[in-house]
Amino acid sequence: MTAPVYDFRSDNVGGAAPELLEALVTANAGTASPYGDDDHTRAMNARFTAAFERPVTALPVSSGTGSNAVALAALANPYGSIYCHESAHINVYECGAPEFYTGAKLVALPGRDYKLHADELDAALSLAGRGNPTRVQPFALNVTQPTDYGTLYRPAEIAALCEIAHAHGLKVHMDGARFANAIAALGCSPADLTWRCGVDALSFGATKNGAMNAEAVVVFDPALAASIPFRMKRGGLVLSKARYVSAQLDRYLADDRWIERARRANEHAARLAAGLGALPGVTIVAPVEINMIFARLPDAAVAALDAGPLRYYKLGREVRFVCRHDQEPEGIAALVDTVRAALGSPAPGRVPLRPG
Ligand SMILES: *Cc1c(COP(=O)(O)O)cnc(C)c1O
Repeated sequence: MTAPVYDFRSDNVGGAAPELLEALVTANAGTASPYGDDDHTRAMNARFTAAFERPVTALPVSSGTGSNAVALAALANPYGSIYCHESAHINVYECGAPEFYTGAKLVALPGRDYKLHADELDAALSLAGRGNPTRVQPFALNVTQPTDYGTLYRPAEIAALCEIAHAHGLKVHMDGARFANAIAALGCSPADLTWRCGVDALSFGATKNGAMNAEAVVVFDPALAASIPFRMKRGGLVLSKARYVSAQLDRYLADDRWIERARRANEHAARLAAGLGALPGVTIVAPVEINMIFARLPDAAVAALDAGPLRYYKLGREVRFVCRHDQEPEGIAALVDTVRAALGSPAPGRVPLRPG
């Protein structure tokens, strides 16, 4: 037998949830109209409307990058800019897709805890040169919730950012690739985290939380949604057999399993962070609020991890561990024990008893 491999690279290394696979099998019966003109896509839209407590337009897509790109394109002007945090996925990990689809300049701002802050955004937008034809004209703010470093905006922080953005004439796009982890951690409703704060368009991720390549562009204003089918088709993003993505998302939101899965992933990460954070020489570099841990480890610990059955990503001096809804608990123990052994720390409970 080969030794088990514990994979902490990302939540997209995990499997699909059983009920979503069942939904695929059910959706497989018979024929359906192509390109999203099918009953599953209509049911999915009704489901999103119920989950978000207002009429929304939800379009099925297969990647978060595509979802971000068309959502931003729907908000774009032809001479514009998109404001985002410098660590944002759209700025770092999308090969310029947002710029490609929108023609916009990305303006990436720093900010503590990997987040944008309303006062700093206000100051930056005040210098943007609105109305000056030598300057790009800002049209969108991207808020990545949770952030790419696993930190969370509170609803009040999102509301404050939206208020500033709207006051400067920008629409707000939320990148919710790990939306479920935010909902589970904050205990608020989808509406409370989005349109009630002023968010105009949402990239709703499900793949990292147990779906099979299923994401949705969710738009809260029908006028903004009108151009998206055309932008998607021109961009090669319209799914011919949309029913398979729509059926998953319809089932995804049908009960609270999506939130329970995300909660499990978050809890695994909290346990892992507690175990690692207690070891001398280990620095957790960002607050662990969802299912991701960023840490700095002594070289000996990195060498020991690389020698063992553990997979994870290195980002420069930092390492990243992501926990999943289908995380093996033994993997967490294996990771902590490997680092502990490399650092020569005694295992808890195996501390020698004092005589007497
Ligand atoms: C994973 C991720 C995406 C993109 O998803 P893909 O499906 O890989 O294109 C977008 N934003 C964030 C914050 C992500 O973590």
